[in-house]
This record gives sequence, structure tokens and C-alpha cells, in this order.
Amino acid sequence: MLKSVLIANRGEIACRIARTAKALGMRTIAVYSDADAKSLHVQVCDEAHHIGAAPPRESYLVAEKIIAVAKKAGADCVHPGYGFLSENAAFAEACAAAGLVFVGPPPNAIRAMGLKDAAKALMEKAGVPVVPGYHGERQEPTFLKQKAYEIGYPVLIKAVAGGGGKGMRRVDKHADFDDALEGAMREAQGAFGDNRVLIEKYVLSPRHVEIQVFGDNYGNAVHLNERDCSLQRRHQKVIEESPAPGMSPQVRDAMGRAAVAAAKAVGYSGAGTVEFIADGAGALRADGFWFMEMNTRLQVEHPVTEMVTGLDLVEWQFRVASGEKLPLEQKDIRLNGHAVEARLYAEDPERGFVPSTGRVIALELPQREGVRIDAGVAAGMDVTPYYDPMIAKVIAHAPTRTEALDRLADVMDHTAVAGPRTNAAFLSAICKHPEFRAEKFDTGFIERHMEDLGAVPRAKDTAAVAAGAARLFARETTALHERARRVSTELHSPWSATDAFSFSGDRKTSIALIADGERIRADISYPQRAKAVATISVDGAAAASDAHVIDHGRDVYVLRGGRQFVVHIEDPAIDADHGGGDGAIKAPMHGKLLALFVNDGDTVDKGARVAVIEAMKMEHTLTAPIAGTVRVLNGNVGAQVAEGTGLVQIEAAT
Ligand code: ADP
Repeated sequence: MLKSVLIANRGEIACRIARTAKALGMRTIAVYSDADAKSLHVQVCDEAHHIGAAPPRESYLVAEKIIAVAKKAGADCVHPGYGFLSENAAFAEACAAAGLVFVGPPPNAIRAMGLKDAAKALMEKAGVPVVPGYHGERQEPTFLKQKAYEIGYPVLIKAVAGGGGKGMRRVDKHADFDDALEGAMREAQGAFGDNRVLIEKYVLSPRHVEIQVFGDNYGNAVHLNERDCSLQRRHQKVIEESPAPGMSPQVRDAMGRAAVAAAKAVGYSGAGTVEFIADGAGALRADGFWFMEMNTRLQVEHPVTEMVTGLDLVEWQFRVASGEKLPLEQKDIRLNGHAVEARLYAEDPERGFVPSTGRVIALELPQREGVRIDAGVAAGMDVTPYYDPMIAKVIAHAPTRTEALDRLADVMDHTAVAGPRTNAAFLSAICKHPEFRAEKFDTGFIERHMEDLGAVPRAKDTAAVAAGAARLFARETTALHERARRVSTELHSPWSATDAFSFSGDRKTSIALIADGERIRADISYPQRAKAVATISVDGAAAASDAHVIDHGRDVYVLRGGRQFVVHIEDPAIDADHGGGDGAIKAPMHGKLLALFVNDGDTVDKGARVAVIEAMKMEHTLTAPIAGTVRVLNGNVGAQVAEGTGLVQIEAAT
């Protein structure tokens, strides 16, 4: 067995790899960027080495630096995790040239599967069913448009070099093709430095079903069952599960064989995933699935497979990389119970899922029977704008699908994150959704149910805000009592009013709060009875007793039902800017201002497209919150903008 490993990654996957490496008695070597000096993966590894600045291009993607550290630290092998350099054939080769074992497939297998067009051609030859479409050389817009017409709408434009759903557009009508092509090519160029695309028939009622495969260096390959990853948003996975609902042993066998054939066709070794798109209009069929692509690495969702098979996939990776044969034969691979994984993200579902970065003030993920938590951050750490804002993966395992979904929902309902907003409430709502529970879903499920899932702008939870007000009130009262004791003077502030002697009869007053940047009034009512507690309400809602309130400087963070509200007492000197409900359009995150669709003096309707910000290689469209006349505050298209930068002000039409 290999004795030491350099983990060329960060976050939860680096921690995950370190866990198995340690169990196998290996020395673990971490690398980190400026932004990650205090990260969890740095803490859990035996040693850690700085490799550069925060942007991945200056650290986690710099092969030479990583290899230099591996040699200096005396690592036997390099585990790339997922993302970053994991599917970079040149990196795998450079490792080998430096005498380091690359924990992954042979470089040629990575290359063969690296571009979607070439991979599809190869799979066709190997007899694996592929989605009908055009995956040739020609890239002229008119030619591609003609091909789309011949394939028949709807079609899907995909970046040849694609990954993570980037550079992908569904087109339903011939008239929309040109715009979609332009967008896909622009996104592909930005994300991969390669704007080539292919066109595929869009499979209706599509289900994403993938097969985990494993190969060794002796020509053996097996599959470890399927994962259903149909619950996606913008082609990115949100929930993954195994087994796939509606899967029969016959179809599993057919898919498994196709996946193993795909792996063998490229001389695969190590962990890989063959992704299929399946016709989900009815039950899954042996003639109703088509190869999409092969990911030549460990997947984010591998724990789902680990929980139903009882195997440790990272251990298998190390064993294969050490030159051992596959630990099990196909007939010995089990499928036990049901596992579901949810990706807990620092993002705001109520505001178009914009990444929500910043300091994690509190983080509590409840431990439950049958639940595994793979976290990449802990309280006190930052979610930075440089990397994927995933906080943790939560995987629930139970005898049945329903029980597994219940467990996962329960964890989400009791998850407390203060600081960044998260998708916990959204994930819980998915687990509880009757159609999803009834196994009626395809990849369009989330888009169709945004409202049921709470992923739309929602009114403030006034009872939660009132709970925050109550905490602020108690805090101020205590402070005033202390000061009163010190200076022993009569106090006239409403805060002192709980001193029963200072008033007679019921009294009501109100205080101005700022809740999530918006001014809100909290009403305080003091009962007559001495020492009785004041009651606090917001818009008639009494303070919720089930809210989780966390003090943080001037603010309190109120968590309730998976939502977060940040509240403080208004200080006119500091809070001058907060009118609330105005026409300000601010950058919702750090990013690049990609496009501005309005000019000074334009009039816009509410909901009109105003600007596009690119962050994390994804485009986010900003729309007008009100109708009115535009004043451009920042017109630097192409430049970086900081979170909160005012871009456009819309003056309401009167
Ligand atoms: P990426 O490599 O960017 O993740 P994939 O090719 O894996 O792209 O596709 C991502 C997702 O897009 C799939 O999981 C599926 O939901 C959807 N998709 C891909 N191809 C098709 C298709 N031909 N028809 C319908 N949906 C598709």
C-alpha cells in the first residue's frame, strides 16, 4: 500500500479523502491557497503546504506547484479529488513523470472521455447507446442551426469541453436558436477556453441515471449500481439517490453492462462514472437510456453508493492505485436499503440562488442514526467567493426510500447555519414534496416546483423577526440596567420601561429595526403587572418561540424554518441608506459585470432584464425590482464588481 498522499484539493472532498487515507495508515499532505490557510482540510491533514493566491488559477490549478510540493514532502501519490485537476490528463502525466502515482485513471482514458464529442463517437463504436445529435467538427452557426432543425426540437446545445452544466442551453424553437447558441458559446469560452459545441436531441421527461464503475490495472471492471441524479437546477445536481426509483434488476443489468463496456473501451482503471440520460416518461427501460458522458474521477455524490454497498470507494481507489486487483467481483457487490444525498449550499434560494458568501457564525448539523455528514466548513470559517460554496453533503440511509427522505428532511429542518444563507429549507421541501415522494419526477422537477419549494421571493417571517427584536430588547434592557446601576440616574428610554416603577398602566411603544436591510417596526407592549415581561410583535406577529437566535455584534441572526433574518436596532447614523423596497439594483455577489441592458434615462417595466453578473462561472441575470426610469451607477461592463455595489438605480414612475 502507498504510504503517503498529497491531496490536491480542498473543502469536504479533501477532508473525505484524508479520512480514508488515515484509516489506511497513510501520511496525509494538504495544499492550500491564501484563502484556505485556516480551512478544515488544512487542519485534518498531517501537514499542509501553501501553494499560492486564492484564485484557483494561482493555486489549486497550478500543476507545477502541486507536484513540487508533493516531491518536497515525499508523497507517494497524488489524489486529485473532483474538480480542479482531477480530469486533467497532462497533470496525470506530469505526476507519473515526477515519480508520483496519480490516483485516477490512465491519462489516455481521461483524454478519450474529456471531450463530449469524441467520447460520444467512441461509445457509438463500442456499442453503447448515445443520444442522437450532431457531434462533428463544424461550428458555423448556420450549419448548427440546420442540424438542430434536422434533429428536431427541443434540442440541447452542449459545450464540447463542458462540465457542471456550463455552456448548456435547451432550445425549444428554431427562432430561439441563435441567441441560445451565442450564450452557450460565450459561457463555454469563459469556463473552458473552448467555445465548441454539440447539438443533442433533448430527451423529454429525462432522468439522469449514472452508473458507478471501477476498474483495475489488470483489465477487470465492475459496476457498483446506479445513482439517480435527476433533481437538478440549471443542470447541476441537488439531490442524488440510490437505487434509482423505478429501476428493475433487468434494466440495472443492462445499464451496468453498458457502463462496464464504456470503461473497458478506454482501458479504464480506478473510480469513474458513466452518465446516462434515461426516458423517464414511464418505468425505466433497457432500450430507454443513452450515454451522455463519462466522468473520469470520484464524484461528489459517491457517498450514496458507499452507503448502499457498504464499500469505501476512496479505499478502492488507493488499492487500485497501489497495484492491487479489484477487491470484489460483480456478483459480490451488494445493494442494501436506500440512500439519499443533499448538497447543502451557501446560497439564497429566495433570490435566484445567488451564492451567499461570508463568515460562518454558527453551524450545527445534527447527527442522526443512518446519517452521514461530509462537511467542508466549520463555524468561524469563511465561505469565500473563490470556490464552490458548498457547506456540506448530508447523506441519509434507511431501509426504504421514504424513511431515508424523512431522515434527510429532519436533518435539514434542524440544521442551523448563521452567516451565509443556505438552501436547507429548499432541500427539506424537496424531501417532503408529495410528487417526489411518489417517485413522479424528472430533471425538470425543481424548475416546475420552484414556488412549492419556497425558491421564490417570500415575505419576511415576522414572527422570526419579532424573536430577534425580543433578543435585542432583552440585550438593551440588561445593558441599561447595568448602566443605571453604575450611574444611578433615572432613565427615560423606552428600554428602561420594564422597570415596573417607571410607569403605571399598560404602555405601548415601538422601535425601529433593520431586518435584512429593510426598516421594520417592532411593537412593544408593557403589561401593568410589576416584573411581568414585555411582549414584542412585528406586524401583529408575536415572537416565535421556536426561532434560533444568535448574537453577533450589533446584529442578531434569527433562524427559523431553514430561513435566516439578520436584525439590528436602527441607528440613523449608520443605517441612513436603508429605505427598503426601493429601486436599487446591487451586485448580489462578487463577480464580473458581463452585460448591461439599460442606459441612463431608459424606462423599464418591473421584471425587465437589467444586467448580467458572472460569478463562479455562472451567469446571473438581474431584473428591475420596480418600474421606472433608469439611472446607471456603474456601467463598467467587463469589470469586477464587489458584492453590494450599486449598479443601477430605478426611480419609480409617479
Ligand atoms: P455537464 O458535463 O455540464 O454536467 P451533462 O452532459 O452531464 O453536462 O448534462 C447535465 C445534465 O443536463 C444532465 O444531468 C441532464 O439533466 C441534462 N441533459 C443532458 N443531456 C440531455 C438530453 N439530451 N436531454 C435532456 N436532458 C439532458
